[in-house]
Amino acid sequence: MRRLIDETTSQNEELQESNQSLIAIQEELFLTNQKLRQLAITDSLTGCYNRNYLIQQLEREITINMNDQSPFSILLLDIDFFKLINDNYGHLVGDEVICGTVNVIKQKIRHTDILARFGGEEFIIYLPRMESTEAHHLAEQIRSAVESNAIAVSHASSSLSITVSIGLLSTRFPIHISSDYGTIINDLFQAVDQVLYQAKREGRNRIVSSIK
Ligand code: GH3
Ligand code: MG
Ligand code: MG
Repeated sequence: MRRLIDETTSQNEELQESNQSLIAIQEELFLTNQKLRQLAITDSLTGCYNRNYLIQQLEREITINMNDQSPFSILLLDIDFFKLINDNYGHLVGDEVICGTVNVIKQKIRHTDILARFGGEEFIIYLPRMESTEAHHLAEQIRSAVESNAIAVSHASSSLSITVSIGLLSTRFPIHISSDYGTIINDLFQAVDQVLYQAKREGRNRIVSSIK
């Protein structure tokens, strides 16, 4: 009987140990999962959101904006003459310029705004519940902060300065839209791309707005 009791106690202790290590593995898996989820929505160079996350969030926001009838704005920014930076200083310095510019932009936006890398040196900022006047004011703050920012880069004796062109689209959805999310988002991107293109054509380092 004593032997049996001892054996059961020892088995019980072993089970408790296994249980503890299973709990530790579970916690580790949870943290790894969290990191993976964060990686999946983050742009690896700049640390801001990626295009997929932006589209995913816009899909949610479309429904909210339609129901609340709230205005919103979208900024599309593109660094001016960026190819020259790459050609003159190399791709790595180009990367540093992109990151330096993102840091300036981050300081100007609200924590509820979504800054996402849209392409190489193009960024979208989604501004929920912000109508055109306020959005234009913010775009001007960003444009001027980027222009006056000196970016310290490696392998260059002096720091670099760049400018950005910005397309601004401000709109409010009608109550009923029959198009699907994909079409609505593509239309928004196309509209803001058109005004960015106009800002480039008109001389760069400027904002062109469109109110729909
Ligand atoms: P524009 O004023 O008309 O915008 O002129 P631009 O020279 O900036 O022209 P464009 O926007 O077409 O050029 C983008 C360049 O950005 C081309 C590409 O080689 C470069 N690029 C794209 N992604 C990256 C990146 O991750 N790092 C670096 N260093 N360069 C990139
Ligand atoms: Mg460019
Ligand atoms: Mg570009």
